Amino acid sequence: MDVAAERIERLHELARAAAADDEHDRARYYVRLARRVAERNRLTLPREFRRFTCDRCDAYLRPGRNARVRLQDGHVVITCDCGAHTRYPYDDR
Ligand SMILES: [Zn+2]
Repeated sequence: MDVAAERIERLHELARAAAADDEHDRARYYVRLARRVAERNRLTLPREFRRFTCDRCDAYLRPGRNARVRLQDGHVVITCDCGAHTRYPYDDR
């Protein structure tokens, strides 16, 4: 794993930890940083990162806390408190 990918992993961890403490502004800060690192280095963000972050407001999503999860037509739909949806196939691994 290169340095940029490691940095993204680390920021992902920090975002998750911040969200777990209900520090959502701090979580957003880490999410935005991770996106920027990915962009600059032309990296694809890890799947888990894409699933648990909101594309619209950069929140780190925690189902049951700041996001709702629904199953719909074989897809998992995660709705952020800001109203944006993230969708992915249920059986995708
Ligand atoms: Zn959102």
